[in-house]
Amino acid sequence: MGGQIAEAYRAHNKVSKQVAMKRAVEMLDLVGIPNPQRRANSYPHEFSGGMRQRAMIALGLVNNPKLLIADEPTTALDVTVQAQILDLVNDLQKEFGSAVILITHDLAVVAETADDILVMYAGRGVEKGSAKEVLAQPSHPYTYGLLQSLPSHSEDLEELKAIKGTPPSLLNLPSGCSFHPRCEFKTQVEGDACWTVLPEWRPTPGLSNREIRCHLTDPVATLQHDEGVR
Ligand code: SF4
Repeated sequence: MGGQIAEAYRAHNKVSKQVAMKRAVEMLDLVGIPNPQRRANSYPHEFSGGMRQRAMIALGLVNNPKLLIADEPTTALDVTVQAQILDLVNDLQKEFGSAVILITHDLAVVAETADDILVMYAGRGVEKGSAKEVLAQPSHPYTYGLLQSLPSHSEDLEELKAIKGTPPSLLNLPSGCSFHPRCEFKTQVEGDACWTVLPEWRPTPGLSNREIRCHLTDPVATLQHDEGVR
């Protein structure tokens, strides 16, 4: 693993192989790999899943980037290792001053880690705002559906409220709003806008610092009403 990190360092810095390897060992140490000097000579298959993620983070940060993009960094890790990796990303983000874009399907990871959130459906953003506020009060039908589908801890044997249907092929997106084939609120929009017009970003009515792409006139009231009748 050390050689790979050293190679990435040398791609951006005119240094000898020895200096680059020293930097690689420092980075492995920084991300918590035990015996970094020895481990720098190990192959990826000799690392555990968590150690591989740590090594990838070392690789991503070796050139002090302004932006780190972490795509599903905790997938396939058990919850303990997942928490360690998220703590590590948080600590290093502060130390390196890098911005981090975290791409994840795990809403618990978002709740724990993110300052701001962009919810995406079929390759496009549909809602954005502070993670805390979006998760507490979703204003787009897709975000609302995602949160409704989480199991509740308060009721036993509760049926999960899944979003009906399946995501579309990105090669053949539905017309208008891509979510319309699955959206149970489209009948509350006058005319055929949901079928024919791709919604533009607009501020969410009634909420500050929030934006959505949806044709509902008052999405917050519509979703709150739905929650009340469920
Ligand atoms: S634009 Fe229409 S179909 Fe799309 S999320 Fe809003 S209500 Fe649903």
